[in-house]
Amino acid sequence: MIIASKIRINRVTSILYYCIFGRMNSADITTVKSILSQPQKIAIIPHRNPDGDAMGSCLALYGFLKTKGHTVQVVAPNDYPKFLKWMPWNNTVINFERENPKAKATINEATLIFTLDFNDLSRVGQMEAALQETTADFIMIDHHQQPGDYAKVTYSDVTMSSTCEMVYNFIDFLEETSLIDADIATNLYTGILTDTGSFKYRSTSSKTHRVVAELIDKGANNMEIHQNVFDTNSPSRLHLLGVALSNMVILPEYKTAYITLSQDELDQYDFKKGDTEGFVNYGLTLEGIIFALIFIENREEGIIKISLRSVGDFSVNEFAREHFNGGGHTNAAGGRSEVSMDKTISKFNEILKTYKSKLNP
Ligand code: 5GP
Ligand code: MN
Repeated sequence: MIIASKIRINRVTSILYYCIFGRMNSADITTVKSILSQPQKIAIIPHRNPDGDAMGSCLALYGFLKTKGHTVQVVAPNDYPKFLKWMPWNNTVINFERENPKAKATINEATLIFTLDFNDLSRVGQMEAALQETTADFIMIDHHQQPGDYAKVTYSDVTMSSTCEMVYNFIDFLEETSLIDADIATNLYTGILTDTGSFKYRSTSSKTHRVVAELIDKGANNMEIHQNVFDTNSPSRLHLLGVALSNMVILPEYKTAYITLSQDELDQYDFKKGDTEGFVNYGLTLEGIIFALIFIENREEGIIKISLRSVGDFSVNEFAREHFNGGGHTNAAGGRSEVSMDKTISKFNEILKTYKSKLNP
């Protein structure tokens, strides 16, 4: 009886400790140390359409594991935006879509696979089959809700600002932050910067700022990184933003604003991957708006890609999961619709009616 309750208390304590401090448990740390004590062939995988956090965490881990003497390769499911193509080591990344045989061979030969910044193997698109076939052990580092259980070691913490902050912690758990050089620090800084909306989202903690300060001390040039990420607009991107803003529909009774962009509009302004990044956030800058979306037509894939953002307790993760085959975080999520833009918007308007009391109590 006493033993049972002690075990229960210990379990509760360890769950609480895990939740509050987001630590990996010590058995997992020991497992990782033991695996990494032997030279490994490592593949590091971000999610499809990788963003700054996905690329930053993969490239930082790449640098760290190379320094430790492993054979390492980042394999991205597909291409990533131009505004990330200055990041240290980004020119070593293999693109699964474009360099398929090489990417498959890397995955087949890997003895260890890290999956970063996603919670489910379906998030890598076409690459999923290759990952399902391998016999390598997986290590997952991620901050999205509802993590799958495919990995030997799962370091999941939904309270974290970014996977990059978690990779910093991961290196810290291994007691090896002394190996973080300026290039690793630059990659980690970039992912934290982009995933926190320049350090302003709710998940940005005092610890996030302490990690960022540490990264600057280790050589991340914060001013240059901000310029590289944000100050490389093309005139056509700004024109596209103009179109997006004039397409915005504001629904004050639902505290909601949404934007649509058709494929024709994208084509007219010479759309390149990454050009619509951040557009969705403009809705939230309107006073009183707590739910913002952007619907972007992708004719090639035959889908409408949806990005959802909120402030406060309204969970866009649940909304995207329930209605648009997606997910993400409480305040930032993505999803898709397989019908036309008009039908998607009609469906959305119908769904919204059922959320009126949640959005505008
Ligand atoms: P974004 O709107 O910038 O594409 O994504 C916002 C957040 O939602 C990111 O954390 C991203 O990983 C997640 N996300 C985007 N699209 C999807 C999706 O289709 N499924 C799931 N589960 N998460 C998504
Ligand atoms: Mn992330």
